[in-house]
Amino acid sequence: MRQIGIIGAGQAGLCLGISLVDAGYDVTIFSDRTPQAVLNSQLRAAPLLFPDALEIERNLGLNFWDEESQVCTRFHNQVLDTEGNLLLDYSSNLEKPWQGVDTRLKFSSWMEEFVCRGGELIVREINLDDLDKLAPNYDLVVVAVGKGSLATLFERDAQRSHHNKPKRHLGTGLFANLKGDPTSFRTFEITNLPNIGEIFKYPFYDKNENPCYAFGFEAYPQGVTDRFSFVQNGREFLETAKKVIREFTPWEYEIFEDMELSEEKAWLCGAITPIVRRPVGHLPSGAIAMGIADAIILNDPIAAQGANNANKMAHLVAQKIIERGERKFDSEWMQAVFDEFWEYVQYSIGLTDCFLSPPEHLQDIGMAMAKNPDVLRDYFNGINNPPSLSPWFFDSFKAKKYLAEKNAKNLAIVT
Ligand SMILES: Cc1cc2nc3c(=O)[nH]c(=O)nc-3n(C[C@H](O)[C@H](O)[C@H](O)COP(=O)(O)OP(=O)(O)OC[C@H]3O[C@@H](n4cnc5c(N)ncnc54)[C@H](O)[C@@H]3O)c2cc1C
Repeated sequence: MRQIGIIGAGQAGLCLGISLVDAGYDVTIFSDRTPQAVLNSQLRAAPLLFPDALEIERNLGLNFWDEESQVCTRFHNQVLDTEGNLLLDYSSNLEKPWQGVDTRLKFSSWMEEFVCRGGELIVREINLDDLDKLAPNYDLVVVAVGKGSLATLFERDAQRSHHNKPKRHLGTGLFANLKGDPTSFRTFEITNLPNIGEIFKYPFYDKNENPCYAFGFEAYPQGVTDRFSFVQNGREFLETAKKVIREFTPWEYEIFEDMELSEEKAWLCGAITPIVRRPVGHLPSGAIAMGIADAIILNDPIAAQGANNANKMAHLVAQKIIERGERKFDSEWMQAVFDEFWEYVQYSIGLTDCFLSPPEHLQDIGMAMAKNPDVLRDYFNGINNPPSLSPWFFDSFKAKKYLAEKNAKNLAIVT
């Protein structure tokens, strides 16, 4: 039986590990924390998954929270002008729901599930030296450490890395005790504040298995909403979140004025410098390891792509490992698998970059989305499957052509 070692028990490591155990491989996952420690830790992310990535979890039988969790069935976008007035305000039902489950609950449960299905879980933080020593024990070592420092094993790809500092400063919290219409708590809401940042709100399922609401604040560094970098504790996070909502979206403050953090560690602050690394890591002994997901393709969460990409890359890598049969997992194979994923993920990076530095034509697309359900549907499909946004979303000339065609079609339907 072929032996696979995986470093990191997060979205990608667990999806890959469980896929391979199910396929009969001998899999060891090294995790820097026990399942209990993961469950009791500070919030590290609040990922929302789209239909294709959810389907991967469902096919692996990992959709433990489909019944209870509060899925997201509606989309609402508000765009303000520079004076703070509402410029655009539109909403639409989603064809297929989106879902967000607290990764502390998800990863700790999946770690236990991995062991139940026959995988070996070793709780140990792996450094470069450890990795070099353990590599000969496995046919393949996969590094899925997310933002962990072990990712520096993989060389930065200067051509594909478009940033050298964060474009946004982040604050994310999970909140309960919101007032108002419960149907609005099934809505993914984004408020765009031009040259200031974005505020995201979406239904979420917290680590104590309670429905709550995730708030993501993306602030231009040194802009007027860049207030979370200085937050020291949950109480300060809550106060800052309420102040930002009261100042920038006062018309909805009433809904949120009594909200509380869903639990004391349900908040995070930080900033991400997006980066693309090379997929093959060379160890001092001459052994090699393969990087996947955030360890080699790290994005700002503004377009909600990272965990979706992690599932999709884990799924592809599992398929390619199985197809490889008994042949060696050499650097050419690792590069070829990455190159295949690149055909997909370059558009996910392109989408994230468009959100981080909106090109002018994005305004026209936004206006069209507000009026034309066809354009909005293409956009929802694109978030779920970014290659479908090419070329119209990424190029001003192609966007014009696409919008003219869609608007002509819309007019034809109306008349
Ligand atoms: C605020 C925020 C909001 C987000 N929202 C979204 C969203 O809406 N949609 C979306 O798709 N994505 C979102 N993301 C991104 C998403 O969370 C990540 O892209 C995804 O978790 C990456 O999966 P991964 O497996 O690569 O890494 P992770 O899920 O981070 O897992 C890595 C694991 O490796 C472990 N580890 C690290 N170093 C070591 C070591 N040396 N030895 C052993 N174990 C180690 C870590 O403890 C961790 O458990 C968001 C991220 C943030 C920060």
